[in-house]
Amino acid sequence: MQLEDKVIIITGGGQGLGRAMAEYLAQRRVRLALVDLNQEKLDDTAAACRALGVQARTYLCNVASEEQVTQTIAQIAEDFGSINGLVNNAGILRDGLTIKVKDGEMSKMSLAQWQSVIDVNLTGVFLCTREVAAKMIELQNTGAIINISSVSRAGNVGQANYSAAKAAVAADTVVWARELARYGIRVAGVAPGFIETEMVASMKPEALQRMAEVIPLKRLGKPEEIAHAIAFLLENEYFTGRILELDGGVRL
Ligand code: NAD
Repeated sequence: MQLEDKVIIITGGGQGLGRAMAEYLAQRRVRLALVDLNQEKLDDTAAACRALGVQARTYLCNVASEEQVTQTIAQIAEDFGSINGLVNNAGILRDGLTIKVKDGEMSKMSLAQWQSVIDVNLTGVFLCTREVAAKMIELQNTGAIINISSVSRAGNVGQANYSAAKAAVAADTVVWARELARYGIRVAGVAPGFIETEMVASMKPEALQRMAEVIPLKRLGKPEEIAHAIAFLLENEYFTGRILELDGGVRL
């Protein structure tokens, strides 16, 4: 896919990886539909993209809400007239051990903690993919859908909710690649390791230091390195149904 003038939707485009992707793609002359829960952050990202000379529109939407996703994707199709790509990037963390026993006290991961991560990180990806694929078919646009999985899909302590969602997103990348190939739609994934974003900045410095030590490349990844991979996956027309691992070798 030639990126110039194509319409790409980025969920969670307000900050972190989503913002880095938006700015990277803006430099490649992509027209952007930025989706997020946070209007202020959306406005910041959109302003940075417009400063690079491209069209960037913002859409306040909770990706876990069927009604909001359906309305938002229909609005994006109306505003731009075409949809060529979707990056399913919005995601949250609500870590906790499934069962923790300390000083004889037992605490459990709450159902709310479990469900919120499944709702945003898995159901949100399903809803956006379903609505965008339908629009791509309706508008006869070929395109690409990129899902953000995680190195955590292998199973991380304290992340029963997050690991489950990210493993499911990797599995559904294969499902949707198979289902949508006949319409000229590719579906691919990226599994980042530990990348320097606001999400990771919420971790304790000692934990971050320990993390860097176990990465063969001895550092966290940069958001631009993930954005670079997103551009490659959108562009490369023979890539589908696979997950690109960008983790500094942490799973080797
Ligand atoms: P982040 O917290 O910095 O940004 C996430 C963005 O998503 C925010 O702007 C937030 O407002 C938005 N968002 C959250 N819930 C939403 C919802 N329900 N609807 C719409 N928008 C919503 O996170 P990040 O580090 O940039 O992570 C982006 C993606 O990459 C996530 O899917 C995350 O799981 C994944 N990931 C991140 C890392 C990392 O090290 N940062 C590693 C692996 C995977």
